[in-house]
Amino acid sequence: MVAIEATASELLFYCRPGFEPDLIAELTERAAEAGIAAYPRAKPDTGFVRFVPADGDLVGLAAALPLDELIFARQRLVALHPLERLSREDRVTPILDQLQLTGICFDSLWHECPDTNDGQSLVRLARALDRPLQAVLRKRGLLVPDAAGLRAHLFWSAGDRVQIAFSRPGERSDWPEGKPRLRAASDAPSRSALKLEEAWHTFIPAEQWPERLAEGMQAVDLGAAPGGWTWQLVRRGMHVHAVDNGPMDERLMATTQVEHHREDAFVWEPPNPVIWLVCDIVDKPARVAARMGDWLERQWCREAIFNLKLPMKKRWQTVRDCLEHLDERLSDAGLANEVRARQLYHDREEVTVHIRLVGEPLAR
Ligand code: SAM
Repeated sequence: MVAIEATASELLFYCRPGFEPDLIAELTERAAEAGIAAYPRAKPDTGFVRFVPADGDLVGLAAALPLDELIFARQRLVALHPLERLSREDRVTPILDQLQLTGICFDSLWHECPDTNDGQSLVRLARALDRPLQAVLRKRGLLVPDAAGLRAHLFWSAGDRVQIAFSRPGERSDWPEGKPRLRAASDAPSRSALKLEEAWHTFIPAEQWPERLAEGMQAVDLGAAPGGWTWQLVRRGMHVHAVDNGPMDERLMATTQVEHHREDAFVWEPPNPVIWLVCDIVDKPARVAARMGDWLERQWCREAIFNLKLPMKKRWQTVRDCLEHLDERLSDAGLANEVRARQLYHDREEVTVHIRLVGEPLAR
């Protein structure tokens, strides 16, 4: 017998497999800051975390944990209790019954699986069930043409285990499984190019790209070689100071939009302020954050995107400390700013931070 519950009772998060403890540490601390007690249900290396409010206040918990403010989550959904021990002969009926019981109408249905080898082996099963499910859901009036963008997610974590969840526009990642499908261009000097592109998609609304990633802007790339990030900036028509002792891609240098400085990026200073600073140096997170603080505090740039490499155990605490350090410096300097950080799909043991100075530049 499969137990059926019809009310959402928990949040479901997707993350990079292996980062469940970091996501849990982040969620627990943020929920506690909002005065909410909640507990995780998770297993190591599974790529997802369930997070349950201790007092049942799911609305309060969801409000305290918006996806945009989370670092280690790729997706955040409002979820029902999972359906377990589904029979091989009929997986569809319990799903239909549970959806029917919720009484919720939605205009899209996505099947998703964890980002693990086991998880991805379930994709075929999920695809095979999609058409029959959609047909019945339409007939029953649950899958409708316009339900204000409400989406139902069927999260398959085993062949006999699925969790039904829902998401609303503006509160979710619109990439399936929270993983952007970006195509590596054949002329990009390195695959790292995808990281900067994903960062832009994540942190800058599409309608603001023409203004904020504009032709003719000046940019600096610290730790630039062989040039994947510089290549992205050049593609947007920018002029780039690329700082690295290593060699830059020859085709990129031939564009004449790049000036290569073979210098120490922790010491090098720009000849004049620029709009964009990007930095992908493998070094201690505190050291990178401190240098980013120098740049922003001195207003040598208006926007910065940089990676914090995290080979250590307490990754959430490390990132939090770096962000607090930057926040303190910028508020002491009276510089209004927007900060976001996220472990991107193309990030491995690292997170990407975006800081933008807002308002008029302060006179120095
Ligand atoms: N973002 C680059 C791309 O897309 O091709 C890859 C950057 S790679 C991960 C890191 C680079 O940082 C290396 O090329 C290394 O030489 C450079 N680097 C490390 N420490 C540096 C320093 N102190 N000054 C300048 N470059 C440094």
